[in-house]
Amino acid sequence: MSDKKITIALDGFSSSGKSSMAKWLAKQIGYVYADSGAMYRAVTLFCLQNNLIVNDVIDEEGLKKQIGNIRISFSTNAENGLQETYLNDVNVEKEIRTLLISNYVSPVSTLKFVREALVRQQQEMGQKKGIVMDGRDIGTVVFPNAELKIFVTATPEVRAERRFLEMQEKGDAVAYEDILENVKKRDYIDQNRAESPLRKADDAIVLDNSHLTIDEQREWLLKQFEEKTR
Ligand code: C5P
Repeated sequence: MSDKKITIALDGFSSSGKSSMAKWLAKQIGYVYADSGAMYRAVTLFCLQNNLIVNDVIDEEGLKKQIGNIRISFSTNAENGLQETYLNDVNVEKEIRTLLISNYVSPVSTLKFVREALVRQQQEMGQKKGIVMDGRDIGTVVFPNAELKIFVTATPEVRAERRFLEMQEKGDAVAYEDILENVKKRDYIDQNRAESPLRKADDAIVLDNSHLTIDEQREWLLKQFEEKTR
């Protein structure tokens, strides 16, 4: 492997498996991994904890006043080696993965001032390169000059099934239909919002993993990385 450090952007639809891929690749090549979706989820949790979402309506002015008080960071759990998300120094990794947060996160992510605040933090994280970041706008807005950009996609049904199995494993009692509805709703909002909508960067490589095994995806990913750094 060459010593040249690059920036890697993995964008794509929700539950496309991009986070697992990004996490694996970062570990494999010794890069930092950053989950930008977790940051939007943490802001959403902050809103719910501080009564900034009432009757499904976001108190935009209230959130704008407090956005400067939201600090998000990542830390590796020494026991299992997994990266966990902290909101103002409190571990919120479990809370941000619930369906409740999934249902509110896309509307929160449409807000321009939220995106500006988080994009700034994300760009700071990537200043030294050697980072794999996954999200929706990483290749288009956060790191438009990333050397390797990948756009991951799979059918909504395949993605809902994956999320369903994941939540079942964790013991969360959720219906497949509710997850499918959430996946489709988030796809729609993410693609149609005015601020940084989800779209493939012109220079991104598309990976449709609907019918690929984990091993096949990993092999493909590593090949892309090696081609860019050789
Ligand atoms: O990746 P994940 O599904 O956890 O992201 C949660 C939500 O955060 C997405 O549905 C999207 O609305 C938002 N998001 C975003 N921009 C990113 C990452 C996530 O708008 N870079």
